[in-house]
Amino acid sequence: MADCIFCKIIAGEIPSDKIYEDEKVIAFRDIHPQAPVHFLIVPKMHIKSVLELTAENSGIVSHCFEVIALLAKQEKLDEGFRVINNCGENAGQTVPHIHFHVLAGKPMGETLV
Ligand code: AMP
Ligand code: ZN
Repeated sequence: MADCIFCKIIAGEIPSDKIYEDEKVIAFRDIHPQAPVHFLIVPKMHIKSVLELTAENSGIVSHCFEVIALLAKQEKLDEGFRVINNCGENAGQTVPHIHFHVLAGKPMGETLV
């Protein structure tokens, strides 16, 4: 997708602090971290949001979570972490390319919003 910032990161056209890459996904540190550890798992396939998931493409979601499990060990997130997906305007999605936030490194409390 020509105007998509995450597609540009995937293509190497915009630099990122990359911590993982395979043939299906990339993971890099968020440019505006909201916790001591904050990185994003981004499928290489341009899917706009959870609303575009189907039986044909949803396998990428389980792959993302397999990578999250791997990175949680690599980053030593032994005290826990939060995985967040924002979908649409009210949720605060600012980049229309599906991704999962991983936040860790401080207690985050019991409330989700
Ligand atoms: P969301 O608001 O859920 O769509 O999340 C988008 C996230 O992408 C935000 O947390 C931004 O800080 C992050 N972000 C935007 N541009 C970049 C970039 N060039 N490198 C790393 N993270 C970015
Ligand atoms: Zn994209």
